[in-house]
Amino acid sequence: MPRRLIDTHAHLDDFDEMEPIIKRAREAGVDAIIAVGANMRACRLTLEWAEAYPGYIYPALGVHPTEWFEEDVEETLRFVEEHLDRCVAVGEIGLDYWSREARKNKAVRRRQREIYVRQLEMAVEHEKPVSIHSRGSWRDALDLLLRHGPDRAVFHWYSGPLDILQELLDAGYYISATPAAEYSKHHRAALREAPLERIMLETDSPVEYRGNPSEPAVLPKVAKALAELKGASIEEIVKTTTRNAERLFKI
Ligand SMILES: [Zn+2]
Repeated sequence: MPRRLIDTHAHLDDFDEMEPIIKRAREAGVDAIIAVGANMRACRLTLEWAEAYPGYIYPALGVHPTEWFEEDVEETLRFVEEHLDRCVAVGEIGLDYWSREARKNKAVRRRQREIYVRQLEMAVEHEKPVSIHSRGSWRDALDLLLRHGPDRAVFHWYSGPLDILQELLDAGYYISATPAAEYSKHHRAALREAPLERIMLETDSPVEYRGNPSEPAVLPKVAKALAELKGASIEEIVKTTTRNAERLFKI
């Protein structure tokens, strides 16, 4: 049977108990989850959950741009690289120029770029796609990807300028829609602009949704919001976004 929905970006390490999360996700029509890492702890747990649910949870590992301050980055990067062959992607990686540490500190932004580029190079070497965080840093995130990264990438929760969106689409990359498709002006503008053939769905769980932590079972809401934005049927949204995710992650 073809898969129904795929949640292409969730932080499952933030959940203590997976069974009820997976049960509700299946009931909601979610047939696969790409679980992303962020730091050492998250990467370890992501691999554990993926091992517990083979063929349902697919792991991605990476160092998130705001998650390296209190740890040994070198050790985490080594861990990521050592376990990449079990993964479907490198992620969540990227740049965050709006984070508290980066706003006023050039050295922090420079360090973010270094860590990002090294992971882009890892992705190329291991022939993996990347899942990119690019808040406030869309130009640099795209330019560095074009220069150092693989030809498969998704800009998760893209809410940046539309001219940069056009460039990333021209380069063959994807963006993903989150529950913010219901209300975020910039995210909605990007989703309206990008062709459905370049959009996938995600929840970014457990990022808050309507006052509660989100979980993969929220994904049908994203499909519905996108259907409204695109003037398309839910069936069309599900079929196309799932096919896009299967292509990008080769699952
Ligand atoms: Zn995320």
